[in-house]
Amino acid sequence: MFNEKAQKMKLDDIRELQEERLLKQVRYAYENVPMYKKRFKEEGIKPSDIKKLEDVSKVPFTVKDDLRDHYPYGILAVPKEKVVRFHASSGTTGTPTVVAYNRKDMDVWGDLMARCYDAAGAKPEYIVQNAYGYGLFTGGLGFHQGAEVLGCSVLPTSTGNTKKQVTMLNDFKTDVLACTPSYAIYLAEAAEKHGYDPIEDFDLKVGMFGAEPWSEEARDSIEESYDMKAQDVYGMSELYGPGVAIECSEQKGLHIWSDHFLVETIDPNTGEVLPEGEKGELVFTMLTREAMPLLRYRTKDVGSVTYEECECGRKHPRIESIDGRSDDMLIVGGVNVFPSQVEDALLETEGIAEHYQIIVDRDVLDRLFVRAEVDRDYYESDEYDEEKLKEEASENLKAVLNINARLKLLQPGSLPRTVGKAKRVIDQREEHDRIEEL
Ligand SMILES: [Zn+2]
Repeated sequence: MFNEKAQKMKLDDIRELQEERLLKQVRYAYENVPMYKKRFKEEGIKPSDIKKLEDVSKVPFTVKDDLRDHYPYGILAVPKEKVVRFHASSGTTGTPTVVAYNRKDMDVWGDLMARCYDAAGAKPEYIVQNAYGYGLFTGGLGFHQGAEVLGCSVLPTSTGNTKKQVTMLNDFKTDVLACTPSYAIYLAEAAEKHGYDPIEDFDLKVGMFGAEPWSEEARDSIEESYDMKAQDVYGMSELYGPGVAIECSEQKGLHIWSDHFLVETIDPNTGEVLPEGEKGELVFTMLTREAMPLLRYRTKDVGSVTYEECECGRKHPRIESIDGRSDDMLIVGGVNVFPSQVEDALLETEGIAEHYQIIVDRDVLDRLFVRAEVDRDYYESDEYDEEKLKEEASENLKAVLNINARLKLLQPGSLPRTVGKAKRVIDQREEHDRIEEL
């Protein structure tokens, strides 16, 4: 059920509810998940030590490896028979992580996603074209269920078959497009190739984009090509899936549905809780999930959280910006580099398109290479000046990154396009290390 009222809760009421739920959830996890009982004992704490909201800092962290180590059923707090849905990561980097939902969890997830659609500007009478992948990945079914809970009509197109996606956007006059931001950019290109004008022929009003980090420049590009609002959605499969946080119409950060999630920011190196507003790793405690409660789950996403009032009237705190995953962060010659910074610098340069690749390798010292496509209109215009563009983009990169990157400009359309998350970083340093060892 769509809990519209919960969106407008006052902050004091949210905090009060969080405290009540936290105390209950800590005891619930301790009593029903052996991993938590063991860990609490090791740390010498009991659920009764958690008396108020701030005491959450005494609770041990949970990390992704805990899910892998307990594959597939080890963190279940309910009997297997009570589970109504499983999702799992692809497992491309090792044992998959499994998440489980009972009936009540599914209802909560549906409500969280319905709130996201609503806050992003979708209406019950809208048609939602859902181009997220259906399957073990939480994106497809998460976006699907939330749209139905709000009352929208769903076109479950899933990923791929770009020509059909474009045709349906035109024929059905879809109102909401849900997919990764890189696919939205690709779809606009593809639409034109198939003879459609995304503004004249389509009737898109809102885009719900998540599952990968994207920049303000990418947003501008999407909003301009379709003449619609492009809204950022935040979530991850460990925390239900999409639906943890959403941008409202103000587009000034993502509201976290904090009656169900308690958020903290921590120093990723020491684990220390940081003061409000400071940038750090985002940590979430799931306050209500029954099938698989997660306490203080370390997301590896780096960002900051504000409790300042938003003009939309929602008092739920906002993630101000996500710099990227601490996992994605590259350390190049001792300097921290987030792929999102590279994107910002590139797209700040007029004449560069949204398609780029970052390559790091090592030749005694680390080297950073950036390959970026030139914008098609600019490339085909008489004003195109490769040297000038390269110089300008290199300066922007240097200003943002504080290190030199070797930039190569590519013809429009040279880099591979993707229907899911774009593979933008290639780190070849490990291979070199291995060669040297031989
Ligand atoms: Zn707002």
